[in-house]
Amino acid sequence: MTITRRTVLASTAFTAAPLAGPALAQSTSPSSAAQGSGTRQAPGFYRYKVGDIEVTAINDGSAPRPLEGFIRNAELPAVQQAAREAFLPQDTIQNTFTGLVLNNGGRLTVIDTGNGDSGAPTTGRWMANFRAAGFDPAQVNTVVISHFHGDHINGLRLKDGTAVFPNAEIMVPAAEWAFWMDDARMNQAPEGARGGFQGARRVFGPIAKDVKQYEMGKEVVPGLTSIAAPGHTPGHTAYMLSSGSGRLLILSDTANHPDLFVRNPDWSAIFDMDADQARATRRRMLDTAASERAQVAFYHAPFPATGHIAKEGNGFRFVPVQWSSAV
Ligand SMILES: [Zn+2]
Repeated sequence: MTITRRTVLASTAFTAAPLAGPALAQSTSPSSAAQGSGTRQAPGFYRYKVGDIEVTAINDGSAPRPLEGFIRNAELPAVQQAAREAFLPQDTIQNTFTGLVLNNGGRLTVIDTGNGDSGAPTTGRWMANFRAAGFDPAQVNTVVISHFHGDHINGLRLKDGTAVFPNAEIMVPAAEWAFWMDDARMNQAPEGARGGFQGARRVFGPIAKDVKQYEMGKEVVPGLTSIAAPGHTPGHTAYMLSSGSGRLLILSDTANHPDLFVRNPDWSAIFDMDADQARATRRRMLDTAASERAQVAFYHAPFPATGHIAKEGNGFRFVPVQWSSAV
Protein backbone atom coordinates (compact mmCIF):
# COMPACT_ATOMS: atom_id res chain seq x y z
CA MET A 1 0.00 0.00 0.00
CA THR A 2 1.28 3.47 -0.73
CA ILE A 3 1.40 5.79 2.21
CA THR A 4 -0.57 8.94 1.63
CA ARG A 5 -1.60 11.63 4.03
CA ARG A 6 -5.05 10.09 4.02
CA THR A 7 -3.83 6.62 5.12
CA VAL A 8 -1.64 8.12 7.84
CA LEU A 9 -4.59 10.10 9.12
CA ALA A 10 -6.79 7.02 8.92
CA SER A 11 -4.30 4.88 10.86
CA THR A 12 -4.10 7.45 13.67
CA ALA A 13 -7.78 8.28 13.66
CA PHE A 14 -8.54 5.99 16.59
CA THR A 15 -6.01 7.76 18.83
CA ALA A 16 -7.11 11.18 17.70
CA ALA A 17 -10.81 10.51 18.15
CA PRO A 18 -11.03 10.89 21.95
CA LEU A 19 -9.27 14.26 21.73
CA ALA A 20 -11.80 15.51 19.25
CA GLY A 21 -14.67 14.29 21.40
CA PRO A 22 -15.63 14.89 25.01
CA ALA A 23 -12.02 15.15 26.28
CA LEU A 24 -11.34 18.21 24.18
CA ALA A 25 -14.60 19.80 25.23
CA GLN A 26 -13.73 19.16 28.87
CA SER A 27 -10.23 20.61 28.62
CA THR A 28 -11.55 23.94 27.42
CA SER A 29 -14.00 24.37 30.28
CA PRO A 30 -12.94 27.06 32.75
CA SER A 31 -12.51 24.77 35.78
CA SER A 32 -10.19 22.22 34.17
CA ALA A 33 -8.19 24.96 32.44
CA ALA A 34 -7.49 26.45 35.88
CA GLN A 35 -6.26 23.08 37.19
CA GLY A 36 -3.79 22.70 34.36
CA SER A 37 -2.21 26.14 34.46
CA GLY A 38 -0.09 28.22 36.76
CA THR A 39 3.03 30.31 37.04
CA ARG A 40 5.14 28.08 39.31
CA GLN A 41 7.10 24.90 38.58
CA ALA A 42 7.41 21.91 40.89
CA PRO A 43 9.75 22.66 43.81
CA GLY A 44 13.32 23.11 42.56
CA PHE A 45 15.23 20.35 44.28
CA TYR A 46 16.95 17.33 42.77
CA ARG A 47 18.58 14.42 44.61
CA TYR A 48 21.41 12.18 43.51
CA LYS A 49 23.92 9.93 45.18
CA VAL A 50 27.69 10.21 45.37
CA GLY A 51 28.67 6.90 46.95
CA ASP A 52 26.77 6.79 50.24
CA ILE A 53 26.30 10.55 50.41
CA GLU A 54 22.94 11.89 49.28
CA VAL A 55 23.29 15.19 47.43
CA THR A 56 20.32 17.51 46.98
CA ALA A 57 20.61 20.40 44.55
CA ILE A 58 18.49 23.33 45.78
CA ASN A 59 17.55 26.09 43.34
CA ASP A 60 17.28 29.73 44.39
CA GLY A 61 15.67 31.06 41.22
CA SER A 62 17.45 33.14 38.63
CA ALA A 63 18.18 36.73 37.69
CA PRO A 64 18.41 38.11 34.15
CA ARG A 65 21.49 40.05 33.10
CA PRO A 66 22.05 41.94 29.85
CA LEU A 67 24.28 39.96 27.53
CA GLU A 68 25.94 43.21 26.49
CA GLY A 69 28.81 43.91 28.85
CA PHE A 70 28.61 40.50 30.52
CA ILE A 71 31.87 39.28 29.01
CA ARG A 72 34.87 41.55 29.24
CA ASN A 73 37.06 40.16 26.49
CA ALA A 74 34.64 39.18 23.71
CA GLU A 75 32.69 41.33 21.25
CA LEU A 76 28.91 41.27 21.61
CA PRO A 77 28.29 39.57 18.22
CA ALA A 78 30.52 36.66 19.24
CA VAL A 79 28.68 36.32 22.54
CA GLN A 80 25.33 36.51 20.76
CA GLN A 81 26.51 33.82 18.36
CA ALA A 82 27.35 31.52 21.29
CA ALA A 83 23.91 32.24 22.77
CA ARG A 84 22.26 31.54 19.41
CA GLU A 85 24.07 28.20 19.09
CA ALA A 86 22.70 27.27 22.52
CA PHE A 87 19.18 28.48 21.63
CA LEU A 88 19.39 31.16 24.32
CA PRO A 89 18.06 34.74 24.06
CA GLN A 90 20.30 37.26 22.27
CA ASP A 91 19.81 40.09 24.74
CA THR A 92 19.77 38.58 28.25
CA ILE A 93 21.26 35.64 30.07
CA GLN A 94 19.46 34.01 32.99
CA ASN A 95 21.93 33.69 35.82
CA THR A 96 20.64 30.76 37.87
CA PHE A 97 21.64 29.83 41.42
CA THR A 98 21.83 26.25 42.72
CA GLY A 99 23.41 25.27 46.03
CA LEU A 100 23.92 21.80 47.44
CA VAL A 101 22.89 19.94 50.57
CA LEU A 102 24.90 16.88 51.58
CA ASN A 103 23.28 14.25 53.76
CA ASN A 104 26.07 12.04 55.02
CA GLY A 105 24.59 9.52 57.43
CA GLY A 106 22.17 12.10 58.82
CA ARG A 107 24.77 14.84 59.10
CA LEU A 108 23.62 17.81 56.99
CA THR A 109 26.02 20.16 55.21
CA VAL A 110 24.83 23.09 53.08
CA ILE A 111 27.26 24.36 50.43
CA ASP A 112 26.41 27.99 49.57
CA THR A 113 23.13 29.52 50.60
CA GLY A 114 21.65 31.54 47.74
CA ASN A 115 20.56 35.18 47.80
CA GLY A 116 18.29 35.00 50.84
CA ASP A 117 15.99 38.03 50.83
CA SER A 118 18.73 40.30 49.45
CA GLY A 119 18.60 39.38 45.75
CA ALA A 120 16.44 40.13 42.73
CA PRO A 121 12.68 39.43 43.09
CA THR A 122 13.09 36.35 40.88
CA THR A 123 15.51 34.84 43.45
CA GLY A 124 15.05 33.88 47.08
CA ARG A 125 13.41 30.52 46.40
CA TRP A 126 16.14 28.54 48.18
CA MET A 127 14.42 28.14 51.57
CA ALA A 128 11.05 27.11 50.10
CA ASN A 129 12.78 24.52 47.93
CA PHE A 130 14.94 23.34 50.82
CA ARG A 131 11.85 22.82 52.98
CA ALA A 132 10.01 21.17 50.10
CA ALA A 133 12.87 18.66 49.96
CA GLY A 134 12.08 17.78 53.59
CA PHE A 135 14.86 19.70 55.34
CA ASP A 136 14.70 22.01 58.36
CA PRO A 137 17.27 24.81 58.66
CA ALA A 138 17.56 24.16 62.41
CA GLN A 139 18.90 20.67 61.63
CA VAL A 140 21.79 21.82 59.45
CA ASN A 141 25.10 20.88 61.09
CA THR A 142 27.49 22.80 58.85
CA VAL A 143 27.33 25.52 56.23
CA VAL A 144 30.35 25.59 53.89
CA ILE A 145 30.87 28.77 51.86
CA SER A 146 32.83 28.72 48.57
CA HIS A 147 33.41 32.49 48.36
CA PHE A 148 31.94 35.72 49.66
CA HIS A 149 29.83 37.00 46.74
CA GLY A 150 26.33 37.92 47.86
CA ASP A 151 24.56 35.23 45.83
CA HIS A 152 26.45 32.62 47.89
CA ILE A 153 26.36 34.12 51.40
CA ASN A 154 23.26 36.30 51.74
CA GLY A 155 21.09 33.25 52.48
CA LEU A 156 22.93 32.92 55.79
CA ARG A 157 21.30 36.01 57.26
CA LEU A 158 18.01 37.74 56.51
CA LYS A 159 17.95 41.50 56.03
CA ASP A 160 16.42 41.89 59.50
CA GLY A 161 19.49 40.16 60.99
CA THR A 162 17.98 36.72 61.58
CA ALA A 163 20.49 33.85 61.40
CA VAL A 164 18.94 31.34 59.01
CA PHE A 165 20.85 28.26 60.27
CA PRO A 166 20.82 28.79 64.04
CA ASN A 167 22.62 25.59 64.99
CA ALA A 168 25.13 25.29 62.16
CA GLU A 169 28.85 25.69 62.25
CA ILE A 170 29.84 28.18 59.51
CA MET A 171 32.99 27.33 57.54
CA VAL A 172 34.64 29.75 55.11
CA PRO A 173 37.88 29.78 53.10
CA ALA A 174 40.63 31.41 55.17
CA ALA A 175 41.93 33.28 52.09
CA GLU A 176 38.47 34.67 51.42
CA TRP A 177 38.10 35.85 55.01
CA ALA A 178 41.54 37.47 54.92
CA PHE A 179 40.62 39.46 51.81
CA TRP A 180 37.06 40.61 52.48
CA MET A 181 37.31 41.19 56.24
CA ASP A 182 40.42 43.36 55.95
CA ASP A 183 39.34 46.87 57.01
CA ALA A 184 42.37 48.55 55.46
CA ARG A 185 41.61 46.95 52.10
CA MET A 186 37.95 47.99 52.31
CA ASN A 187 38.90 51.58 53.12
CA GLN A 188 41.36 51.69 50.22
CA ALA A 189 38.71 50.47 47.79
CA PRO A 190 36.81 53.09 45.78
CA GLU A 191 33.41 53.92 47.25
CA GLY A 192 31.61 52.00 44.50
CA ALA A 193 33.62 48.83 45.15
CA ARG A 194 32.90 48.55 48.86
CA GLY A 195 29.61 46.66 48.58
CA GLY A 196 31.28 43.24 48.71
CA PHE A 197 33.21 44.15 51.85
CA GLN A 198 30.12 45.58 53.52
CA GLY A 199 28.04 42.56 52.51
CA ALA A 200 30.55 40.18 54.11
CA ARG A 201 30.41 42.23 57.33
CA ARG A 202 26.61 42.21 57.34
CA VAL A 203 26.53 38.42 57.09
CA PHE A 204 29.55 37.38 59.17
CA GLY A 205 30.05 40.34 61.53
CA PRO A 206 27.67 39.14 64.27
CA ILE A 207 29.28 35.66 64.33
CA ALA A 208 32.86 36.61 63.45
CA LYS A 209 34.43 34.89 66.44
CA ASP A 210 32.59 31.61 65.76
CA VAL A 211 33.24 31.35 62.03
CA LYS A 212 35.67 28.51 61.22
CA GLN A 213 38.21 29.27 58.53
CA TYR A 214 39.41 26.37 56.41
CA GLU A 215 42.53 25.96 54.28
CA MET A 216 42.88 24.47 50.78
CA GLY A 217 43.52 20.77 50.22
CA LYS A 218 41.78 19.93 53.51
CA GLU A 219 38.82 17.72 54.36
CA VAL A 220 36.29 20.39 55.40
CA VAL A 221 33.59 17.91 56.46
CA PRO A 222 33.83 14.13 56.03
CA GLY A 223 34.12 13.34 52.32
CA LEU A 224 34.41 16.99 51.18
CA THR A 225 37.90 18.28 50.33
CA SER A 226 38.62 21.91 49.45
CA ILE A 227 40.43 22.74 46.19
CA ALA A 228 42.04 26.14 45.60
CA ALA A 229 40.26 27.75 42.60
CA PRO A 230 41.34 31.42 42.78
CA GLY A 231 40.62 34.14 40.26
CA HIS A 232 36.85 34.57 40.47
CA THR A 233 37.68 35.87 43.97
CA PRO A 234 41.00 35.57 45.83
CA GLY A 235 39.87 32.68 48.02
CA HIS A 236 37.33 31.09 45.66
CA THR A 237 37.06 27.38 46.44
CA ALA A 238 36.03 24.25 44.55
CA TYR A 239 35.62 20.84 46.19
CA MET A 240 35.94 17.14 45.58
CA LEU A 241 33.18 15.13 47.22
CA SER A 242 34.18 11.47 47.62
CA SER A 243 32.36 8.48 49.03
CA GLY A 244 33.28 4.90 48.12
CA SER A 245 33.85 4.93 44.37
CA GLY A 246 31.58 7.98 43.94
CA ARG A 247 33.14 11.35 43.16
CA LEU A 248 31.66 14.75 42.44
CA LEU A 249 33.78 17.73 41.44
CA ILE A 250 32.00 20.80 42.80
CA LEU A 251 33.17 23.69 40.62
CA SER A 252 31.41 26.56 42.44
CA ASP A 253 31.91 29.66 40.21
CA THR A 254 34.89 28.35 38.24
CA ALA A 255 32.61 28.87 35.21
CA ASN A 256 29.38 30.82 34.92
CA HIS A 257 26.76 29.73 32.33
CA PRO A 258 28.23 26.64 30.62
CA ASP A 259 27.01 27.53 27.11
CA LEU A 260 29.22 30.60 27.30
CA PHE A 261 32.14 29.74 29.57
CA VAL A 262 32.55 25.98 29.23
CA ARG A 263 32.34 26.35 25.45
CA ASN A 264 34.68 29.37 25.62
CA PRO A 265 36.83 28.89 28.73
CA ASP A 266 38.99 31.92 27.95
CA TRP A 267 36.08 34.34 28.17
CA SER A 268 35.93 36.45 31.32
CA ALA A 269 32.67 37.23 33.07
CA ILE A 270 32.48 40.65 34.69
CA PHE A 271 32.38 38.89 38.08
CA ASP A 272 35.91 37.47 37.79
CA MET A 273 38.14 39.64 39.98
CA ASP A 274 41.43 38.41 38.49
CA ALA A 275 40.52 37.47 34.92
CA ASP A 276 43.83 35.81 34.01
CA GLN A 277 43.94 33.71 37.16
CA ALA A 278 40.27 32.77 36.74
CA ARG A 279 40.92 31.63 33.16
CA ALA A 280 43.87 29.48 34.20
CA THR A 281 41.83 27.96 37.03
CA ARG A 282 38.88 27.32 34.70
CA ARG A 283 40.99 25.53 32.09
CA ARG A 284 42.73 23.44 34.75
CA MET A 285 39.50 22.39 36.47
CA LEU A 286 37.56 21.67 33.26
CA ASP A 287 40.51 19.70 31.93
CA THR A 288 40.61 17.62 35.11
CA ALA A 289 36.85 17.01 34.95
CA ALA A 290 37.04 15.98 31.27
CA SER A 291 40.07 13.71 31.53
CA GLU A 292 38.82 12.02 34.72
CA ARG A 293 35.22 11.83 33.39
CA ALA A 294 34.18 13.14 36.79
CA GLN A 295 30.63 14.22 37.44
CA VAL A 296 30.56 17.95 38.15
CA ALA A 297 28.21 20.35 39.90
CA PHE A 298 28.35 24.08 39.48
CA TYR A 299 26.42 26.89 40.97
CA HIS A 300 25.41 28.82 37.85
CA ALA A 301 24.64 25.91 35.50
CA PRO A 302 21.01 25.33 34.49
CA PHE A 303 19.14 23.31 37.12
CA PRO A 304 19.85 20.68 38.38
CA ALA A 305 23.33 22.04 37.70
CA THR A 306 25.13 18.73 37.41
CA GLY A 307 26.60 16.79 34.51
CA HIS A 308 29.89 16.02 32.83
CA ILE A 309 32.51 17.93 30.88
CA ALA A 310 33.61 16.77 27.41
CA LYS A 311 36.50 18.22 25.43
CA GLU A 312 35.37 19.94 22.23
CA GLY A 313 37.47 22.02 19.88
CA ASN A 314 39.53 24.52 21.82
CA GLY A 315 37.03 24.43 24.65
CA PHE A 316 34.66 22.04 26.35
CA ARG A 317 31.03 21.04 26.35
CA PHE A 318 28.76 20.62 29.36
CA VAL A 319 26.62 17.47 29.17
CA PRO A 320 23.77 17.55 31.71
CA VAL A 321 22.89 14.35 33.56
CA GLN A 322 19.75 12.54 32.56
CA TRP A 323 16.96 13.32 35.04
CA SER A 324 16.26 10.26 37.11
CA SER A 325 13.08 9.47 39.00
CA ALA A 326 15.09 7.23 41.33
CA VAL A 327 17.71 8.52 43.78
ZN1 LIG B 1 28.06 33.20 42.05
